[in-house]
Amino acid sequence: MGCFYDKGLKFSCQGCRVCCSVDPGFVFLSEDDIQRMADGLSMERQAFIDTYCRIVDMGQMKMISLLEKENYDCIFLTDKGCKVYPYRPVQCATYPFWAHILENKDAWDEEAKTCPGMNKGQLHSKDEIDKILETRLSNTPVVLI
Ligand code: SF4
Ligand code: SF4
Repeated sequence: MGCFYDKGLKFSCQGCRVCCSVDPGFVFLSEDDIQRMADGLSMERQAFIDTYCRIVDMGQMKMISLLEKENYDCIFLTDKGCKVYPYRPVQCATYPFWAHILENKDAWDEEAKTCPGMNKGQLHSKDEIDKILETRLSNTPVVLI
């Protein structure tokens, strides 16, 4: 059976920064994310975690997320955009092609209400979208027991 994005989906980021700010949220990091960002900032792994991350208690497990500023901006959001854009977390780089957003058209349309880049600009093929999904799924966030 086909899925709602068999013919691809349009998305081009409009740079509105809503997904990097506005509401409280989490940017969960995988080991690869942490190492890549630490390398990008020429920092040791632990120093990167101590400076830019927080441990989030999710009940049965704890995870590592980027810090937010008091106004809920991501710690790396600047006037010029994302300070770590070339080596940003996979969670950020794969948005909006996340599993729960791609579950069905209703979920996609609901998300599009908050992201003006969805249904606009570049057409991403189903193959391309499925590869992005795989990238996200293979970058499991760090879980601390
Ligand atoms: S909400 Fe959408 S358009 Fe705005 S910055 Fe995020 S990805 Fe880009
Ligand atoms: S790391 Fe960059 S892209 Fe990700 S939320 Fe922070 S500012 Fe936005």
